[in-house]
Amino acid sequence: MFKWKRGPVTLFQSALYMTNSLVVETLDCVLVTDPCWLPHEVEEIRHYVEDILNGRRLLLLFTHSDFDHIIGYGAFRDAEVIASRAFADKSAGEREEILEQIRVFDDSYYLRRAYGLAYPDVDHALEQEGQTLIFGDMLLTGYAAPGHTNDGLFTIVEELGLFIAGDYLSDVEFPYIYDSSLAYEATLGKLDQLMSRHPVTLLVPGHGEAADSREEVERRKQESLNYIHSMRRAVASGSQDGVDTLIAGCEFPRNMSKFHRSNQELIAKELAGDAGS
Ligand SMILES: [Zn+2]
Repeated sequence: MFKWKRGPVTLFQSALYMTNSLVVETLDCVLVTDPCWLPHEVEEIRHYVEDILNGRRLLLLFTHSDFDHIIGYGAFRDAEVIASRAFADKSAGEREEILEQIRVFDDSYYLRRAYGLAYPDVDHALEQEGQTLIFGDMLLTGYAAPGHTNDGLFTIVEELGLFIAGDYLSDVEFPYIYDSSLAYEATLGKLDQLMSRHPVTLLVPGHGEAADSREEVERRKQESLNYIHSMRRAVASGSQDGVDTLIAGCEFPRNMSKFHRSNQELIAKELAGDAGS
């Protein structure tokens, strides 16, 4: 699953859903993000990290709490965990639901893991918008990124110009909106300021290919906003054709149409004024 290494940044991409895990190195630290999904994939990342760690501080960042993104936590119990405040504040019931999704997944494919499942214990929660967490020479600046889920986090690795976006700005997925389309838009609305404040040279989304130019980031942002706006218009006018054509030509329609349908239902609820109920 090793995909590429660009200087201090190494990307591993799962065979499943093109899900990205990163290993980022500085002199003082090794940062791992969302190690996933399959047992041998998590092990490959774990072994890679063990080979390069060399006494450095091990950090583990979760971009959000979707089960596919926290599935590898058990293999990195020795790491210091970084996530959003909302991620850390998930209730016992919510945590259990997420863990159950992992168990269902593992049962579905008879998967055995060499580690136990647990919801991540957060050591360093991002408390404030634009806050910088300092780990020796590794500086991580975070911004809350709700919309996909309510506990998403945009993280900038300062010095490296690396933007870890979680499940936004994918080139393969349209917006998957589980939380709120308004929050999703507001999160995308942070990008201009964020990109002007930080010299981003590489953006890695949760799924799909990295973006290495501002133009590509901007293109993905506009595409996401267009999707949300067009979906709202089509739902408001009751045009199922209008909804359907939004994902015409998408790459994995048999699966993606389910997420598209969920988006439609969520936006219909929002328009009916009972969002969050
Ligand atoms: Zn995801």
